[in-house]
Amino acid sequence: MKISRVEPMLFPWGSLYVRIWTDEGLYGLGECSPMGSRREILTCLEQLAPLLLGRDPRQRDPLLRGLLHRFLKLGDSGILPEALAGLDIALWDLLGKLSGQPLYVLLGGAYRTSFPLYASIGGGAGLTVAQMVERVESFRAQGFQAFKIRMDWGAHRRDADPEKDFAMFRACRQALGDAVPLSFDANNGYSVKTAIRQGRRMAELGLAHFEEPVAPYDYPGLRAVAEALDVPVSAGEHEYTAWRFRELIAEAQVPILQPDVVKCCGISEMRRIIALAEAHNLDLLPHQTQPQVGLAASLHLCATTPLAMPYHEYTGRQPRQEELFEEPLVPDANGVIHLPERPGLGLVLREEAVRRALAG
Ligand code: CA
Repeated sequence: MKISRVEPMLFPWGSLYVRIWTDEGLYGLGECSPMGSRREILTCLEQLAPLLLGRDPRQRDPLLRGLLHRFLKLGDSGILPEALAGLDIALWDLLGKLSGQPLYVLLGGAYRTSFPLYASIGGGAGLTVAQMVERVESFRAQGFQAFKIRMDWGAHRRDADPEKDFAMFRACRQALGDAVPLSFDANNGYSVKTAIRQGRRMAELGLAHFEEPVAPYDYPGLRAVAEALDVPVSAGEHEYTAWRFRELIAEAQVPILQPDVVKCCGISEMRRIIALAEAHNLDLLPHQTQPQVGLAASLHLCATTPLAMPYHEYTGRQPRQEELFEEPLVPDANGVIHLPERPGLGLVLREEAVRRALAG
């Protein structure tokens, strides 16, 4: 069996999928993170494609690890790991289709196959307190039972308006009541001192987890915040390889790791990261903003480890992506997603819908 074609698909709304076809007419489907540099990732995929043609798609690690190390001087963060993530997910999906098994079976079996989602609601920096409360209420009306508000600063800013952030958190907490899990994502926007102050007063109101309080490269700062607070601090969405997670674990000592499967070289590397988390007895709370392919890959991985925290990230439905699939991943009326039993990721593209969307 040979790889006959690598087909990147950049949709008008920014999603970047990639299909790997075999000479027997089967395909596997993957996705690359569209956050930031999708055109550069597309170019990288186009440059890697000829190196995959004619190769056996079942020899995934020698093939893709080989590419990672061959081109490592391009960098072990960002574009190359994100391109490889799409290819790796596609080869796992293909393996599932070849074997007729859902991915979680190939990955070792499921501790659970249902995942309550937390609504991950962004844009805090540009919203008023009332607007954020309105967004939270609208997700609650859809059935979601856990929440996170994100500040999303855009350009790098630090300690821009902590009083407003706290007022926003307090108003959301009041709207939801005390029992509903509510987390806060500072999107790297605080100094260590401000992060500790914010974390303490949010904790008094009930804070499920405190995400990325300080700059992603400030491991000593993360450690200082994590040590000062009783609430768990999380980080990891800006790390792309297991060896970077090793450094994060050793130096930042945060109790929750947040790898993103469409960024960190894919399912194979995320398994290595989960193994590290397990060896250090840490919790897993993946970062994931892509509601179909990326989410499916992330949930199959979470199914196979007891480290995965109860709620998985979900940024909301995207009807244009749902239309691409025969049976898209959609949460039920209680904000829970049930993993499909179909082979691989469990997602089957509607060819006509894909053609239409790519042409649009
Ligand atoms: Ca985040």
